[in-house]
Amino acid sequence: MDVAASSLSPRRVTRQISVGSVKVGGGAPISVQSMTTTKTADVEGTLQQVYALAAAGADIVRCTCNDQGAAEGLVQIVPRSPVPIVADIHFHVEMALAALDAGVQGLRLNPGNLRKPEEIKLVASEARDRGVPIRIGVNAGSLHPTIYERFGGATPEALVESARVELAYFEEVGFSDVKISVKASSVATMIAAYRLASETFDHPLHLGVTEAGPLPGGLVKGTAGIATLLAEGIGDTLRYSLTADPVEEARAGRQLLEVLGLRERRGLDLIACPSCGRAEVDVIAVATEAQRALAELQIPIQVAVMGCVVNGPGEARHADLGIAAGKHRGHLFIRGQIVRVVPEDEMVAALVEEASRIAVEGVSARLAARDASAEAEAEADRAALLDDRGLDVNRAADRIDAIRRRRESGAVG
Ligand code: SF4
Repeated sequence: MDVAASSLSPRRVTRQISVGSVKVGGGAPISVQSMTTTKTADVEGTLQQVYALAAAGADIVRCTCNDQGAAEGLVQIVPRSPVPIVADIHFHVEMALAALDAGVQGLRLNPGNLRKPEEIKLVASEARDRGVPIRIGVNAGSLHPTIYERFGGATPEALVESARVELAYFEEVGFSDVKISVKASSVATMIAAYRLASETFDHPLHLGVTEAGPLPGGLVKGTAGIATLLAEGIGDTLRYSLTADPVEEARAGRQLLEVLGLRERRGLDLIACPSCGRAEVDVIAVATEAQRALAELQIPIQVAVMGCVVNGPGEARHADLGIAAGKHRGHLFIRGQIVRVVPEDEMVAALVEEASRIAVEGVSARLAARDASAEAEAEADRAALLDDRGLDVNRAADRIDAIRRRRESGAVG
């Protein structure tokens, strides 16, 4: 476990279920989910999106099953999908049964709009016989009216009660292959609801802030809710609900888990300084170009782009690889050690080349192969930059010493 993951609360112990090949809960890696935005009847279009979501980090993908065409689409989508498919069911019990017939690896039922106990138990019995798990997907915006009235609104207690009532129906037919979500668009409500759910159930929890909206606000809301709970050890699978290309949801989910140290990094982690008046290049432009070029390599590497050589290499010394801008030159460094000095217009190309080599040869080999004169060249650049600014660090230190001595001797009051 890395430093990030070990600084979080231990994960709460939950039961484990299997959504196709993906284990959820019981200590399994936290999985990322997203949902297609295509018509499920459009088999090729939906599969194209499922593949894009899987490539961006989704472990499980949900498709709506809202009509006969969607159910027929699932028959073809499920066997060709690279990840397990969950059918999203609202209102129509027949759609749940058709999705099970299509071979989906999971169902999501909304207790707020599938309300007849006999129908709920029928679906649970069918899922039980086929070994297919169900998510009880409670949503503050579509809470069961009776519960809404009883609790005086979509409170955290009301959301958890809705899940509890549904779970009781399932248990009546001996079905417990269940995960639970209690989503709300209010981050505070959602956090409180999941905390309560975590105390109430030992079933795996699916985290999400529902209807979080477009970027960047949606991302902020989703992260505020999901990350808070993950830091408390709550949550076994997650979905960002963004009004954006769902690939952004999958990407965000995966990145969140990686930055928290809850999943292994499988791609680029670009860190860059925010830039300031000291910057010797347009840091935003260089970082954007580096992000685009390095992401294509699909290498699990942390790369730093720093605006100046005075602070850059030191501040980003933990990065696998980095570049800091000097006097029209870039100082390429590996784990804080300068390995090469390159012309300013070759900074991004040098990063890409070195990242590719690190991926093949490893960090130690690339450090051993560093340009022997690089550190001296870099030092000369740093000194020249300090001189340019009229700073004389040694004389300043002498003056500080002199002032201190004067004050200690009482000559200055
Ligand atoms: S690395 Fe240099 S340019 Fe970037 S923020 Fe720090 S001092 Fe400013």
